[in-house]
Amino acid sequence: MTNATKHCRNFAPSPTCSLCCSLPETVLHTLSDCAEVRQLWSQSDCRQAIDLIYSAEAPSSVLSLVRAITRLRRMDWEVTIIWVPRDANRAADTMAKLADPSDYSLRVFHGAPLEVATFIELAKLRL
Ligand SMILES: [Zn+2]
Repeated sequence: MTNATKHCRNFAPSPTCSLCCSLPETVLHTLSDCAEVRQLWSQSDCRQAIDLIYSAEAPSSVLSLVRAITRLRRMDWEVTIIWVPRDANRAADTMAKLADPSDYSLRVFHGAPLEVATFIELAKLRL
């Protein structure tokens, strides 16, 4: 959540970007306008998607998302896209699937959903 959004919801004292401290921290500012943002990290559990994004055919892909990611990679940023096995990210994957795909509003969990609690307990045992 950006500072601008947090500020609108009374979660932050200021909407100002925490990196450049000069403009409101909106999604657009964070992704394209902030002079301090030069690193972009993204993760995916789909190995084929990562291979497609890094392929020589990506700029002319029939998939608009792949072409858009290719354009982002050409910007003056350090872009890193890495593959994370789905089993290593099961809690986040499960929470993403709990979302209603037709509802873009913010969903706040005040505790771990029951569907995720098992994964959290298993992760604690591995530590
Ligand atoms: Zn900024």
